[in-house]
Amino acid sequence: MQVTILGSGTNLHPTRAAAGYLIQTDLPIVLDFGPRTLSNLLKTGLDRHTIQYLLFTHYHADHFSDFLTFFFDAICHSMFSDVRPALTIFGPPGTKRLFRTMLRTFPNFKDAPFRVTLKEVHDQPFAIGQTQITPLPMTHSDQQVCLGYRVEYQGRSAAFSGDAMVSPNLVSLCQDADLAILDCSFSSHAPGGSHMHAEDCGKVAKKAKIKKLILSHFYETADRSNVVAQARRHFSGPIIKGKDLLTLKVGRASQMD
Ligand SMILES: [Zn+2]
Ligand SMILES: [Zn+2]
Repeated sequence: MQVTILGSGTNLHPTRAAAGYLIQTDLPIVLDFGPRTLSNLLKTGLDRHTIQYLLFTHYHADHFSDFLTFFFDAICHSMFSDVRPALTIFGPPGTKRLFRTMLRTFPNFKDAPFRVTLKEVHDQPFAIGQTQITPLPMTHSDQQVCLGYRVEYQGRSAAFSGDAMVSPNLVSLCQDADLAILDCSFSSHAPGGSHMHAEDCGKVAKKAKIKKLILSHFYETADRSNVVAQARRHFSGPIIKGKDLLTLKVGRASQMD
C-alpha cells in the first residue's frame, strides 16, 4: 500500500492544499478532496479518469470542494473523449442527499455516460477490491457525522482520522496501525475547539501503539511551532510532519519509509 498526501493544510493556506490523500492498493482510492488537492493529484502522474472510488470523511469545504471540479471534468471527458469507468462515492450518513442535490446542478450530468453510485457508511467494514475499509464516527462536529477510516491491504494498515478530537473511537481506529495520519490542526500552544493539537496526536499514537505517526491538516498557526517536538513528548516512535505530495509506502517494516 502506498499513501500520497494530496493536501496537508486547511481551506486557505499559503503553501499547502487542504485535506486529501491518494491511497494506492490494488486500485487507487481518493480519501477527501479539499481545495487544491486536485492540482496535486495531477502532479502524481496518475490518470484521474482511472479513479473509481472516493471516500469522504465529512462535508466541511476543506474536505470536499475539489470534487466539484473533478466531477465536471469527468463529465466533459466522458462526453467528448473516452467514457470513464463508473464512480462510487462513500461517505457518512447524509452523503446521498448532499450529492443528489449537487449532481443536479451539473447541466450535462444526465448525459454523462458513466454510472455514479452513492454509498452511505457508518461503522461497518466494507471492501473495495482487495482493500478492507473500516469507518468509525469521530468527534468533531455537532452538525454532521464525521468519519475516520482504517484502510487494510495485504496485512498492512493505515488509519486516517479526518477531522477529529481525541476519543475512544479514534484510538480504536488507529490501534496497532502501521501508519496513522492524524488531524494536527494546531500547535499545543494554540489548541482549537473541534480538532486535535500536536500533543493530542502524540497521546493517541502512544495509546494506540501505532508504528508511525504522520501529522497533517495544519492551520497556518501550527506551522509556526515545532509540532513534531510537541507530539514527541508523548510518542517515542517515528513522527513525520506531513507535506503535500509526500508518498509513504506501507509495506513490511524494512520497506517502510
Ligand atoms: Zn471539519
Ligand atoms: Zn478539516
